[in-house]
Amino acid sequence: MHAQSSLHQTTTTERGSFALARCSCGWTGPARRSRDRARTDAADHLRTTAGDEV
Ligand SMILES: [Zn+2]
Repeated sequence: MHAQSSLHQTTTTERGSFALARCSCGWTGPARRSRDRARTDAADHLRTTAGDEV
């Protein structure tokens, strides 16, 4: 079941010329120069936390 999406809702925020990923759980990714990188960080976070739930 994939009913945990509400626990970790990732978004990308832009600060000046940097982009960083944020999650509803309070996690924040490092500042990146491209939004694609920030999205990758968010995906990595979701994977890591998904493993934690087990
Ligand atoms: Zn999270």
